[in-house]
Amino acid sequence: MTLLVLVGPAGVGKGSVVKEILDRNIDFMLSVSATTRDPRPGESEGVHYYFISKDEFEGLVKSGRLLEWAQVHQDHYYGTPISELEKAERLGRHLVLEIDLQGARQIRGRIKNAVSVFLLPPSLEELEARLRGRGTETESQIQTRLETARTELAAASEFDYQIVNDSLSETAKEIVSLVRRH
Ligand code: 5GP
Repeated sequence: MTLLVLVGPAGVGKGSVVKEILDRNIDFMLSVSATTRDPRPGESEGVHYYFISKDEFEGLVKSGRLLEWAQVHQDHYYGTPISELEKAERLGRHLVLEIDLQGARQIRGRIKNAVSVFLLPPSLEELEARLRGRGTETESQIQTRLETARTELAAASEFDYQIVNDSLSETAKEIVSLVRRH
């Protein structure tokens, strides 16, 4: 069982890559995070996230039940329950973590044999086009996210592998083979 951390700027296509990996490889499973944000339409409890209150989140932190956690976008907390790791060990599956940069750095420090992959956009122009294409953010949110993306891209070399996500299926295949070879 290998822990795979997938990191990269918003809009780079992490979610699609994760879905492609999970849909095609039964030996991989998704780590479901705990979060204090509200569910979005279509998201369900225990599938996309465990939606919990701030008090419950603090309880998890205090009792040491999170592998990593971070405050993301100022007002919300996100964390990986250690129970996800235990579940993957029990089932003998590789565990995929799609988390932010702060969390990915904590994992690197704690789990020595984790594989970390930083997904890069083909270019900054392409990243901007993808962010706009989602249609979910306002212009000022897009500008903020691009600014964050530029800072985050500078962290790419901290991780084990950097992969340019220009083809979804190729990217997913490459990551799967990296993990299986590990
Ligand atoms: P969203 O609210 O759009 O689902 O996620 C916002 C950000 O939180 C994304 O960058 C996502 O990767 C990150 N995130 C999701 N779960 C976790 C987690 O368990 N830990 C950390 N550190 N970040 C997370």
